[in-house]
Amino acid sequence: MKKHNFSAGPSILPTEVFEKAAAAVLNLNNTGLSILEISHRSKEFVAIMEEARALVLELLNLENKGYQVLFLQGGASLEFLRVPQNLMQVGGKAAFLDTGVWANGAMKVAQDFGETVIVASSKPKNYNYIPTDYTIPTDADYFHCTSNNTIYGTQMKTFPSTKAPVVCDMSSDIFSRSMDYSKFDLIYAGAQKNMGPAGTTLIIVKEAILGKNNRTIPNILNYQQHIAKESMYNTPPVFAIYTSLLTLQWLKSKGGIAGIEKLNETKANLLYTEIDRNPYFEGVANKADRSLMNVTFTLANPEHKETFDQLWQSANISGLNGHRSVGGYRASIYNAMPIESVEVLVATMQEFEKRIIN
Ligand SMILES: *Cc1c(COP(=O)(O)O)cnc(C)c1O
Repeated sequence: MKKHNFSAGPSILPTEVFEKAAAAVLNLNNTGLSILEISHRSKEFVAIMEEARALVLELLNLENKGYQVLFLQGGASLEFLRVPQNLMQVGGKAAFLDTGVWANGAMKVAQDFGETVIVASSKPKNYNYIPTDYTIPTDADYFHCTSNNTIYGTQMKTFPSTKAPVVCDMSSDIFSRSMDYSKFDLIYAGAQKNMGPAGTTLIIVKEAILGKNNRTIPNILNYQQHIAKESMYNTPPVFAIYTSLLTLQWLKSKGGIAGIEKLNETKANLLYTEIDRNPYFEGVANKADRSLMNVTFTLANPEHKETFDQLWQSANISGLNGHRSVGGYRASIYNAMPIESVEVLVATMQEFEKRIIN
């Protein structure tokens, strides 16, 4: 029986995406070839790559605005390196908003390239909120932020405008909400949270910010090289890209980002309302900064852990344990999570309340 999978990543994808991806492993669009064996230079795969790159810009309303889309390998973690390699000048500096482990990870890698400045940090409160009052140095080569903090369940609701190029790690909330994406100069996201299987990273970059760097960039790390080769500088991760395309097509059929955003708000409201109502649970993230993608909560009384764990496991729920640095529980309710699964979780929390009272 299919589980209600609240895992933070790799995570749930739409059922029809699982089905179509599985079919393509056996026979891709009646080519008589598997997606796993077809040449990435074949016209079938080139068409897949072109459609995926175009659909990203269409869904984010970024067409004809000077952006390029790449599907590379190495995860979001490799972009921690590729971003300073491409954007930081020798002797330059970059500014970081420290909202958690991933934000910090991006900064640590950048330290090998130049000066890094933390404009604000929520670390003293174990990253349970998003700092808002800070100034970005005007001479920074770029400003880096993390739109959704997967581990803590916080999400940036507003973004600063600044002279420096704005770089954003959107690994865990890409394609989940409407906003003006042209405010960003470079967006990156590992596929495995809200777009596809692990194995590819989406990069959306404004071409005008590239090529200004005064250091030597190895080709494999050079965004301009990947752009010149239309995201096929070397063999692309064909299966991960094809499956991501299937998710993007599914998203478009659901009314695009505006359509999914409504559903995401409904799902998150359902769960947060129960966390706030039920006296046996407590929310982790500051209310104003609550994520619509990763919902973090704890038990009011840790002694009830065994009872609650048994209940959700027997309700066919999977992946609910919180990250080890936060503890408690984390329900990841990405785009593909059906509202029915959220309803099962809420019903389980209500059942738990009854057990404790009686
Ligand atoms: C999961 C995650 C990462 C790490 O991604 P990898 O693809 O494993 O390198 C980075 N940033 C955020 C916000 C994440 O959620």
